[in-house]
Amino acid sequence: MSVEKIDTLVIGAGQAGVAMSEHLGNAGVPHLVLEKDRIAERWRSGRWDSLVANGPAWHDRFPGLEFSDDPDAFIGKDQVADYFEAYARKIDAPIRCGVEVSEVRRNTGRPGFTVTTSQGVIEAARIVAATGPFQKPVIPPVVPRETDILQIHSAQYRNPRQLPEGGVLIVGAGSSGVQIADELMRAGRKVYLSVGPHDRPPRAYRGRDFCWWLGVLGRWDMSAPKPGTEHVTIAVSGARGGETIDFRRLAQQGMTLLGMTHSWDNGTLSFADDLARNLDDGDASYLSLLDEADVFATQNGLDLPEEPEARLRVTDAFCITHPIRALELGKEGIGTIIWATGFSVDYSWIKVDGFDDRGRPIHHRGVSVVPGIYFLGLPWQSRRGSSFIWGVWHDAKHVAEQIGIQRKYMDYHRHASRVTESV
Ligand SMILES: Cc1cc2nc3c(=O)[nH]c(=O)nc-3n(C[C@H](O)[C@H](O)[C@H](O)COP(=O)(O)OP(=O)(O)OC[C@H]3O[C@@H](n4cnc5c(N)ncnc54)[C@H](O)[C@@H]3O)c2cc1C
Repeated sequence: MSVEKIDTLVIGAGQAGVAMSEHLGNAGVPHLVLEKDRIAERWRSGRWDSLVANGPAWHDRFPGLEFSDDPDAFIGKDQVADYFEAYARKIDAPIRCGVEVSEVRRNTGRPGFTVTTSQGVIEAARIVAATGPFQKPVIPPVVPRETDILQIHSAQYRNPRQLPEGGVLIVGAGSSGVQIADELMRAGRKVYLSVGPHDRPPRAYRGRDFCWWLGVLGRWDMSAPKPGTEHVTIAVSGARGGETIDFRRLAQQGMTLLGMTHSWDNGTLSFADDLARNLDDGDASYLSLLDEADVFATQNGLDLPEEPEARLRVTDAFCITHPIRALELGKEGIGTIIWATGFSVDYSWIKVDGFDDRGRPIHHRGVSVVPGIYFLGLPWQSRRGSSFIWGVWHDAKHVAEQIGIQRKYMDYHRHASRVTESV
């Protein structure tokens, strides 16, 4: 049986795989991208119905193609998927859809890898795993599975109609959790939101979106989270044209805020006594960004309208001044828990010794410690922007350069070996 051979095999055709293909193509590297579903499938079917991009269209895109809409609009998830399909067509990316990679093994005694797919075996000199920063939904083992309560992860949430009648507890107040909580409250549900440590940048300040402020202030380019902030999530939303997430306002509107979800005892959930602290810390990060923005505007003589009202604080609702420490879910009529508690990665299909004890790749800017293996789209792969649309494009460029460098070494080896043989 003949085995297909390729120089570089990219696994996954989300935004990362598409960006990788563009840069490999530009560098003249023969490559193939395998995608188990469709291009940008996670944007299409892996997110809730009403999701729009967190950043405006002018920002959350690749350099080579603009969205046709208003540059300041927040694009719907299906249009984002359409965009990556259009991008793949534009660059003529060699993407094969409907092919799942189940195993990658390093060859012994010869270079390269043997890749097992749902459509046969492929030999590749190198592989790029572009299978996403958010692969496996994580639900902490707090509430037993065998209760009457429906428990789903935010990755399974689609819309309010999908949930049984009754109140909903959302655990986790990053961008997913807070947007889902808001949507459910607007749909008339009684909503409880368990809030942990978070950053909540202003959606816009002095007429510029926070994506712009984070850019000019160099925050997207930070190479690692500030020590102690590794578990701090970011709460932003592009919903309804983009609004600043303000937990105190949501509480005034009727959402019951809770501290971090702690433990379960016979139908009662208990919560940490940290709600006020988490809200205060979130406010502090919000205000520090306003301060930095003001300094930047003054230093650079930017003619941007002042916005003192951005510093006004909403009065604390009862649930903040008198935090609930325990909830009897049945008594409160809570029939659903949505865990917006993040994701982990699964690289168990790559059979090499290049992962830490939690299964995370050991790499430098996407270049694995195992020669010939590369990653793309990892959170903080090289910078804060790495797992986001615009950031992954820059990381892909770096990974393609590194692949080009390795190909040159192998070219030299082949050339030098021929010279030696002919002497
Ligand atoms: C709710 C949510 C909202 C987000 N909003 C934004 C936003 O507004 N702006 C922004 O910049 N970022 C946003 N992100 C972050 C990021 O842009 C997305 O997670 C994006 O989908 C990551 O793209 P990716 O190509 O790295 O990975 P993915 O989109 O996850 O693509 C990986 C692809 O690999 C395929 N695959 C996986 N395993 C295999 C295999 N074994 N064989 C073949 N194919 C395989 C999958 O089918 C998938 O298509 C958001 C993330 C989430 C979860």
